[in-house]
Amino acid sequence: MREARNPRSGAIDYRFEVVSPADLKQDMARARAAQPAWAALGVHARGAVLRRFAAAIEQQRPALQAALETDTGRRRATTLEIDSVIASIAAWTSLAANRSTEDWIEGRSNKLLRHRPQWIAYPVCAVISPWNFPLLLAMIDAIPALLAGCAVVVKPSEVTPRFIAALLPAIAAIPELTDLLQVKQGDGSTGEIMIDHADLVCFTGSLATGRLVARRAAARLIPAFLELGGKDPLLVMQGADLDAATDAALRGSVVATGQACQSIERIYVARSLHDEFVAKLVRKAKAVTFNWPDIAKGDLGPIIWARQADIIAEQIDDAIRRGAKLKCGGVIEHHGGGRWLAPTVLTDVVQDMSVMREETFGPVMPVMAFDSVDEAVGLANSGVYGLSAAVFAGSIADAELVGRRIDAGAISLNDAALTALFYEAPKQSFKQSGLGPSRMGEEGFTRFFRRKALIANHGRPAPLELFREDFAITRQPTGD
Ligand code: NAD
Repeated sequence: MREARNPRSGAIDYRFEVVSPADLKQDMARARAAQPAWAALGVHARGAVLRRFAAAIEQQRPALQAALETDTGRRRATTLEIDSVIASIAAWTSLAANRSTEDWIEGRSNKLLRHRPQWIAYPVCAVISPWNFPLLLAMIDAIPALLAGCAVVVKPSEVTPRFIAALLPAIAAIPELTDLLQVKQGDGSTGEIMIDHADLVCFTGSLATGRLVARRAAARLIPAFLELGGKDPLLVMQGADLDAATDAALRGSVVATGQACQSIERIYVARSLHDEFVAKLVRKAKAVTFNWPDIAKGDLGPIIWARQADIIAEQIDDAIRRGAKLKCGGVIEHHGGGRWLAPTVLTDVVQDMSVMREETFGPVMPVMAFDSVDEAVGLANSGVYGLSAAVFAGSIADAELVGRRIDAGAISLNDAALTALFYEAPKQSFKQSGLGPSRMGEEGFTRFFRRKALIANHGRPAPLELFREDFAITRQPTGD
């Protein structure tokens, strides 16, 4: 039996059984057995089933909303999570419907050789997801994988398990999905067993766990698509509109209490703009409120995972100890048993402080001045992460020039954290922020297939003679 803490009250008010290894193995075998018929249905029929699933999620909305609010302590983000999952089903089914057929294609070099390309879904896909957007991240890979024809077994985070009981009736309402989409209560050991019985792993979580997942998948030679952490920089260049830049910096850093992979986690500002930028940012940061005591009011929810509050506090304390100046926020507050942090602005930071190098996952904005574009780009490119980044400049064109030099998978120009709002652009995680093809765009669907080719010879098979060592010599014209 495992326990979950309520992030608003701090109470341990939820207990759940971790699926036993024996049951999990059987469940995964059931998924494997059901998958060929699901793949044979074709993408249009699978899309129709998934659209019914979207309607069933809508039916479950009140229960999902209540459970996710308890899991995460926030209301608006919860509504957006449910909306986003439902909308994603419509988006993926329409993208998949427009894909090309598998007709025979005539060879370019030899017209007698033709091939028929095949798209063969991975049979069983394991999805392992984190606690920061529990429903959204449990479903983000599961839906395109199902649509491709995979069976999917999902294990959400043990930190936010309550929504699973609210989601299961939506799956049960669609009999075709019973064996094909399974959502399991479990912990890290559950994830390990899943990797041992899947054909493909989609993992969203921390860099440390991602390494373990990659190793385990590598031992079985199965692919692992990893979506890991980030330390996203925001660069504010000469000519930037500081009102817009501070709006974007604040939103990009503190939305969802900074518990988002694409959060702005460090800010570099052209030295001549630094003081004005900080003054504007601090003024806006101080106006941010908690959604306490009323979950229906305010901007920021609690820190979901208690240990994360300790990590954030350690980073802030380390920075202050080493000479950083705290402009606002900075202290973990306790309200009603939950832990909260007001938007925190730090200045006089240096690059080797943990708050500038390690993922914070909280509403913390360390601001540092730079003297040249090269220095700014060098700072942005420092560190192990390369998830995304943002650049503000006098024009989109100026921002683009800098953005092209940044080593990350998605760069927001004259805004920040746009990957939270725009899902059409293919992007990969650079450096240690992940591994594998893009989760967004068409590749987000095609990554669930293996490519197979049927190659037909409409002429005679080539004779062995063609490969004989003296082929060229025996075929030499004799001159007779
Ligand atoms: P985590 O790595 O601690 O846990 C993620 C999941 O892995 C959980 O379900 C956990 O039970 C499971 N797990 C733990 N040990 C395992 C093991 N040995 N084998 C298999 N599974 C195991 O991450 P978290 O703290 O839940 O989530 C926060 C992290 O997720 C942050 O680093 C954040 O940046 C990252 N994240 C990344 C993205 C992205 O798209 N790149 C999105 C959201 C969150």
